[in-house]
Amino acid sequence: MNSLSIAPECLLLSLFLLSLIRPESAQAQVSPADAALSQDGPRAAIESYFKAHALGKDEFITQAFAPEAKIQFVEGDQRKEWTRDEFATRFQQPAADEYRRVRRIQRLDVSGTAASAVLTLNYPQVLFTDHVSLLKTDGEWKIVSKVFSVDRRDVAKEAIKETLRDWMLPFEPTGIVGNIYYVGSNMISSFLIVTSAGHILLDTGPVEMLPQVIENIQKLGFKPQDVKFLLNSHGHFDHCGGFAEFKRRTGAAVVASKLDGELMTRGGKGDFYWGDDLAYEPVKPDRSVADGESVDLGGLSLTAHLTPGHTKGCTSWSIRVNEADKDYDVLFLCGLTASPYKLTNNEKYPNIVADERNSFRKLRGMRADVLLASHGFYFDLAGKAARRKPGAANPFVDPDELRRHVSEMEKDFEEALLAQETPR
Ligand SMILES: [Zn+2]
Repeated sequence: MNSLSIAPECLLLSLFLLSLIRPESAQAQVSPADAALSQDGPRAAIESYFKAHALGKDEFITQAFAPEAKIQFVEGDQRKEWTRDEFATRFQQPAADEYRRVRRIQRLDVSGTAASAVLTLNYPQVLFTDHVSLLKTDGEWKIVSKVFSVDRRDVAKEAIKETLRDWMLPFEPTGIVGNIYYVGSNMISSFLIVTSAGHILLDTGPVEMLPQVIENIQKLGFKPQDVKFLLNSHGHFDHCGGFAEFKRRTGAAVVASKLDGELMTRGGKGDFYWGDDLAYEPVKPDRSVADGESVDLGGLSLTAHLTPGHTKGCTSWSIRVNEADKDYDVLFLCGLTASPYKLTNNEKYPNIVADERNSFRKLRGMRADVLLASHGFYFDLAGKAARRKPGAANPFVDPDELRRHVSEMEKDFEEALLAQETPR
C-alpha cells in the first residue's frame, strides 16, 4: 500500500473542509445500487482510484482525478495539500491481495454534473475515510477534490482484544459424550477426556482463561493434577496460551504436531499471518505427533490427523468412546478458517491452498458421530448443551454435521480464493 506519514487527525476538521468544497447544487442521494445502474460515470472514476490502491499504479490516479484536483488532509494542527501529481507518486506498490475486498463506497450523492462520495479504505493498521467531490466535464467524470482522514490504529490487535472479551465468558462445564467433558469458555474450547489412568486435556485457551478451565475441571469432580497429557489443536495463543502455566502446575506432557510445536516453542511468534503480534509464553512440546499417530492412556486412544491450512500444523484428533453401551466416533476439529488469509502468492505459506484443499479432502473421507471443534460456534456448543437432558437423545450426536461443516467452510474458502485471484 502507499505509505502516508500523517499523524492521526481530526475528522471534524476534515468534515469542515469538506463543507467548503462540496458542490453548491442541491443533493439528491441515490443508493449505491441505483448509482451502479444509472451513474456509471462517477463510479468509474472511483473504481479507477480504487485500482490505484489495489495495483499501486499512478496512472489510475491520473485517470481518476482532474489535473487541477486538490488532495487535502490534516497533519498535526496543519492543513496540508497535495496536487494530483504529488498524490500519484505515492502509488508505487500493489496492495496485498487480502485488502482488495475492504474498499467501499459508503455514500454517493449525484446531482446533475456534480457528485460527492464518502469512501472507506480499511487497511490492517489504518482506516482511511475519503470525502471526494466529482464533476462531469466534457462528458467525463473526474475527482476534483479529496479530503481524507486517517485513523491510525492497531485494528487487528484491538479487534482481537474485543473478541476475546466476548469469547471468554464463563460456561457451565458439561458432559459431551462418554467420558468427554467440555471445560472451556463460551467460545474457546477446552476438552477433558477422563480415563482410569489419568486424564487428557485438549487445549487450555489463552492464559487468561486458565483459571476458568481449572475451576471447571474441579467443578466436575476431577483433579487438574491428574491430567497426564496436554494436547493441542493448533499453536495460536487462544488455544495454547495457557500451556506453559498448566504444565508448570500439573507436570502434564505437552503433545503437538511438529510444525505447530515449533510455533509453540517460539511462543506463537513468526506466525505466517499474525507475525509476532499474538505471542504467548513459549512452551516446548514433550512429544511431537505425526499424521496417524496416537496418544494412548487408560485403554483410550486419540489419533492425530494433520489438517493444515489455518496453521501449518493444525491437528484434528479422533477418538472412539462408549456411552450407554454404544460406540461413538468423535472428531475434535482443529479449525478450517483460512479465508481471511492471503491465499495467492503467499511467500510465508506457499502451500496454503494445496494444504487447505487436502484437509477438506481428508475430512470429507472421514466420519464422525460427534463433531467438536476448537471454537464453540463451529459446533453449536451452547444450543446442544442446553438440549442435553437425561433420558433424551444426545444432541451432540449428529453423524451428518462433519460433512455439512466441511462443505460450508470449503465454499467460504473457494469464494475467498476466487475473489483474491480476480483482478479488480
Ligand atoms: Zn487459530
